[in-house]
Amino acid sequence: MNPDRPAGTGDAGARLVAPSDHSIAQNLRAVRARVDAAAREAGREPSSVRLIAVSKTFGLGCVRLAAAAGQVDFGENRVQEALAKCAEGGDLNARWHLIGHLQKNKARKVVGPFAWIHSVDGCELLDRLERAAADEGARPRLLIQVDLAGERTKHGAPPADLPRIFEAAAACQAVEVKGLMLIPPFEDDPERTRPYFRRLREVRDDLATRGVDPSMLDELSMGMSHDFEVAIAEGATMVRVGTAIFGARPAPAAVQ
Ligand SMILES: *Cc1c(COP(=O)(O)O)cnc(C)c1O
Repeated sequence: MNPDRPAGTGDAGARLVAPSDHSIAQNLRAVRARVDAAAREAGREPSSVRLIAVSKTFGLGCVRLAAAAGQVDFGENRVQEALAKCAEGGDLNARWHLIGHLQKNKARKVVGPFAWIHSVDGCELLDRLERAAADEGARPRLLIQVDLAGERTKHGAPPADLPRIFEAAAACQAVEVKGLMLIPPFEDDPERTRPYFRRLREVRDDLATRGVDPSMLDELSMGMSHDFEVAIAEGATMVRVGTAIFGARPAPAAVQ
């Protein structure tokens, strides 16, 4: 057996990776130091960048190791896997972020467990979340996922839809829209992703000049393991980092 790929633990109904060693705490410290350095380099306060540890495919044991090392924000992209971890890890001081695509019929399930939902991409989903949150007495914060690449990314709202979405968001009582999220097309060279990060910031600034309440534009969720420093240079307030903290994920076929 490959020692870097321990057998799944069977939790969350999928084969999730179990913790093998204490490299998670070390990795976390290294990533946080890089986040802080990138923020300073950009003339920003390190505290203005929230590090979200993306724990998808990793079992709760790995989340526990990260939490023990002081990590609070965790990101998950599959609703079912995430809900199992939230429930099992109820004792942890963890704040859960849904960063993957959300189907409208799952809105009710996610408004309680997730403090942040990054993947809202239209008025209909926004409306479902608002009604579900009102019914459940939940107050999740939402980000609007933006598609800047046309048909190359599968989800996200085209920039032209944003004024309408933010108009609807302004009328929401239970959910709070707090900014924008981006999953750019994958590029090996992070410099090639920079224009997308920059564009998201410009889209945000444009919404502000159109009169969108600045409190709905606080956050830019962008940047992953291989490009978070560039994202921070372009204004990211949330970076979503998985591999650099938890290690390589199993190939998708092995996950489910
Ligand atoms: C998996 C994932 C990440 C983390 O990717 P890494 O390259 O492992 O850091 C970030 N954002 C989203 C939406 C993801 O699904």
